[in-house]
Amino acid sequence: MSEQIYVGVDLGGTAIKVGIVDAAGNLVQTYEGPTEVPKGPEAVIDNIEKYVRHIVEESPYDWSQVAGVGTGVAGFTNVKEGVIVLAPNVGFKDVPIRSILEERLGKPIKIDNDANVAALGEAWSGAGKGIDHCVCYTLGTGVGGGIIIGGRIVQGFSGLAGELGHMAVIPDLEAIQCGCGKMGCLETVSSATGIIRMANDAVERGDRTSLSLLESGITAKDVIDAAKSGDEVAIRIVSRAAFYLGKSMAAVAVSLNPERFIIGGGVSKAGEFLFEQIRETFLKLTPEPVTRGVSIVAAELGNDAGMIGAAGLFLRS
Ligand SMILES: [Zn+2]
Repeated sequence: MSEQIYVGVDLGGTAIKVGIVDAAGNLVQTYEGPTEVPKGPEAVIDNIEKYVRHIVEESPYDWSQVAGVGTGVAGFTNVKEGVIVLAPNVGFKDVPIRSILEERLGKPIKIDNDANVAALGEAWSGAGKGIDHCVCYTLGTGVGGGIIIGGRIVQGFSGLAGELGHMAVIPDLEAIQCGCGKMGCLETVSSATGIIRMANDAVERGDRTSLSLLESGITAKDVIDAAKSGDEVAIRIVSRAAFYLGKSMAAVAVSLNPERFIIGGGVSKAGEFLFEQIRETFLKLTPEPVTRGVSIVAAELGNDAGMIGAAGLFLRS
C-alpha cells in the first residue's frame, strides 16, 4: 500500500496556509493563499478547497494517498460536530465546515481551534517530540493554551479546556478587565497586548524609561529590547509578564503534572531573558516533587505548528 499523507490547514484571517504532512509528523510541502474574508464564508471555503487540491497536485503524492484534511482556526469550534461556532477573524459563525469539506473533498475532515492544533503540532513534532504530557502557551495578541496529556488534546466538557490565558492569576488590587469580561486574567499581563499596555501606562505616568523616547507606538519587541539593554522600567514589565506565567504554570503543574511546558508566540522570542524568570517563579511556587524532571522550553515549529498539528488531528486526537 502506498504511503498515506495528511493535509493540515491553518485558516487565518489574512492567509490560508496548507501543508502536506507525513505520518511521522514531517512537513514536506507548503502552500499559502489569501483567505479573502470580505468575500464571505462561501468564498473562504472555496479557497480552502482550491488550495488543498492545489498543494496535492503540485506534490509527488496522489490524491488517493490523502488520508485526511485537518483544519485549525482561531475561535470557538465544536470538535465533535465539526462546526466552527464563532471565528470573527475569518467571518465564520455556525459553519458546519466538516460536512461541507467532506462533501467537496471526499476526505475525512477534522477541526480544532488554533491553540490546540499548535500545541498538538509542537507535542508531536516540535519541542515536545517524544513527550506524552505537555502544556503549551502561545504569547501573542492574547495568551493561547493547549494541553496534551497522553499524547492527545485535552478538550474538557465543552471543548474549552486549555484556555490558559484566562486563568485569574493577577491579585485583585492589580487586576484589570480582560477581553473575556473577567478581571485579572493572565493575558492582561503576559500577552504582547498586556506588555504594550503596561509600557504605555509607565510612559503616561512619567516613569524614567527609554520607551518614552520612541516616536511611533510602543511594541512588545521594543519593551523586550529595552529590558535586555538594562532599562529598569522595561525590566519590571517583562518580569511581571514572566512572574504571572510562572505562577499560572505552578497551578497547571499541580493539576495536570505535565513533563514539559512549551512557550511560543512573538513574546517568547525574548528568549532566555524571559524563560529564566519564568522558571525561577515556577520553582518558587510549585511543590518540589511536582517540579522534578519538568522543563520549560521555547516552541520550535513557529508558524508551522498549526499546519502540522491540524494534520496530527488524525493520528493524535
Ligand atoms: Zn480573560
